[in-house]
Amino acid sequence: MIRIERCYCCKKASPNLNKISLLVEFPGSRDNIDFIFCSNDCKKEIEKLVSFNNKHISKFYILGGLVLFLAVMLTFISALYPDLSKPVQAIFMILLGVLALIYPYATWMTYQLIGIRNTKMLVRILGIILIYGGIRLW
Ligand SMILES: [Zn+2]
Repeated sequence: MIRIERCYCCKKASPNLNKISLLVEFPGSRDNIDFIFCSNDCKKEIEKLVSFNNKHISKFYILGGLVLFLAVMLTFISALYPDLSKPVQAIFMILLGVLALIYPYATWMTYQLIGIRNTKMLVRILGIILIYGGIRLW
């Protein structure tokens, strides 16, 4: 069986794909990973993602923890002060949405599955839905 390789960024299958090996930081480890790309634009996109990941990987986990903490706090606030729950929930949704718009990043699994380009679009759409939902809830 011939394995069809696709661009890591845009997921296009092309007969003239290139490959670059980049050092990727993970929490607690680092690894050289081969990325397949179809064009110079896609290569730039991959390099941008990897350098962003390498710079901020530790912050991402703090941020994830913070969001989880806020979600738990929100549950408590909603239970204790039902009057406050709506605006607090709305603020939380809008904040998450804005964050998603500014940093349209996801997990490596998502990139692997649908490519960098589609992932960014998906995260941005989710961000807009969150902001819209937050405003409606207010
Ligand atoms: Zn591509």
